[in-house]
Amino acid sequence: MKILLKNISDTELLSKTKGLVLKERELIGEIIAHLAEIETRKLYCDLKYRSLYDYCTAELGYTNDQAYRRISAMRLTKQLPQVKEKLEDGTISLSSANMFSVLIKDAKMEKPEQVKVLNLIEGKSKSETATLIENIRSEKQLPPPAKKKVIVKQTEGSKEVRLSVSISKETLDKIEQVKSLYANKNRKGESLDLDKVLDMMAQAALEKYEKELAPKKEVRRINKRENLGAKKKSRYISKETKYKVYKKAGGKCQFCGSTKNLQYDHSIPYAKGGSNEHANIRLLCSNCNLRQGVLVFGTSVMKRETVEVSRPGTNSCSSKLN
Ligand SMILES: [Zn+2]
Repeated sequence: MKILLKNISDTELLSKTKGLVLKERELIGEIIAHLAEIETRKLYCDLKYRSLYDYCTAELGYTNDQAYRRISAMRLTKQLPQVKEKLEDGTISLSSANMFSVLIKDAKMEKPEQVKVLNLIEGKSKSETATLIENIRSEKQLPPPAKKKVIVKQTEGSKEVRLSVSISKETLDKIEQVKSLYANKNRKGESLDLDKVLDMMAQAALEKYEKELAPKKEVRRINKRENLGAKKKSRYISKETKYKVYKKAGGKCQFCGSTKNLQYDHSIPYAKGGSNEHANIRLLCSNCNLRQGVLVFGTSVMKRETVEVSRPGTNSCSSKLN
């Protein structure tokens, strides 16, 4: 039965509020633990989200800042599990955890020092923590925390995005140069807007790199390598196959449409006898690739694979773009 707040006593109101705040803190710890498990399973890929951040903002309705702070705290608890209980008992807040997380990353702190600083900020207010961390940064001669360089905002249903980016003066000069060359070439003296210049540059870069992906006419060398692969079973995927798969997928993850961290993956895993033929190869982003690995092999195996995937040149479960 819902209690009418206006009917409860002052003492009861104060005590109930305290109890609710305690529950709220416990809930933060729980939410972070749940996000950590979702991250491990890459579960957001099943819902077609490209990242945990997209899932937190679009599915859970967090603002960009709220999502960022929770994900940052979640990654911190993976590194230092004791942070979870400090968040739960309220001795550190999400924003303090975030400042601390940036500090240990920028200072490349070893675990003993991380624990020392964590103990220092425990029980401190947000502003006290900010001062403390600022002092450590200046002692270590660290520059102020880097602001996000690129901010992308997309209104739901709109095909346009709003991009806010910091670029060097040198890059701006190059853009101005492109604009002026275009105006000189164009008899009507039409000028180019910045969005058109960016599109032209992106198109030129895409053509350049896609050309590099295309197999060269070094058939003999490729055949030699493939024959070698046939004799000695290997997960080697030929450049021709990769190019075919890339073109078919339109240069995007075949599951979520992401264009980031693309990898070639065996639909039927290589470890389960899957072939290197193009029909068995798909283009996936690293998150969707890991999710498929979790579905087939489970999270314990994939934790090991995650490390391998990120190390180029190892015999990992996936093959990078080139
Ligand atoms: Zn994907």
